[in-house]
Amino acid sequence: MTAIALLAVVAGCTTIVPDAAPGARHGDPVTAAPPPRPGYTADGALQPWIEAGHGEIRRVNGAEGCVALTFDDGPHPTLTPRLLALLAEEDVRATFFVVGSRAQQWPDIIRAMNAGGHEIGNHSWNHPDLTQLGNDQVTEQLARTDAAIFSITGAAPDIVRLPYDASSPRVLSLISRPVIWWDIDTLDWKATSVGEVVDSAVRRARSGSIVLMHDIHATTVSAVRGIIEGLRARGFDFVTVSELMTGRPCRAETVIATARQG
Ligand SMILES: [Zn+2]
Repeated sequence: MTAIALLAVVAGCTTIVPDAAPGARHGDPVTAAPPPRPGYTADGALQPWIEAGHGEIRRVNGAEGCVALTFDDGPHPTLTPRLLALLAEEDVRATFFVVGSRAQQWPDIIRAMNAGGHEIGNHSWNHPDLTQLGNDQVTEQLARTDAAIFSITGAAPDIVRLPYDASSPRVLSLISRPVIWWDIDTLDWKATSVGEVVDSAVRRARSGSIVLMHDIHATTVSAVRGIIEGLRARGFDFVTVSELMTGRPCRAETVIATARQG
């Protein structure tokens, strides 16, 4: 649920409806269309700056100077809190694609993620290959995870990432939210050294990159400070995936340059 939708619910604003449906009576529930998701038009099409492949979002063109760090498969009982502390020290917000059953097991970590301003995405209930499941099971995997996260933070995830990158047109047709891929795979799960992970993220990231990592590996968590320092040295700033999808640049110089061109 978006912040605006949540506010509407909290405020219980059932009477301030400038464009109420014809025949609507005072006190009827609000049925105004929700604002489009970041990165989408009001018609539900992807904005032209979103780079997608096979229906999944890979990168955001024009988000000059922005990079989104993403961490899958957690929360992990010790590594994720360590990572959250590090991100807080560095004042960096990231995106966590969490596994629903693990979120339910460690709700305090999900609460800390939310309090730290990080984005929480849906990475299924127990990390199956969704292409091998029936339609009802796919829906159930995502809905159970939404419910678990909603019960902890009060908001269901706006974005989804598929386990194992196992995708199919059928699976994608069942998901109405943005499905987030990446353009930089650090291959952190098989890295043998911290330097390897740092190097793969820092050297290859571009403006608008979505960097894939996993917060269930000690090597990854140990690499994050080096990644932040290395990317900052290259002039990048860090945003969540939903922020990245707005296409807004992170560098003030770029805003000025674009305005001059325009
Ligand atoms: Zn995963």
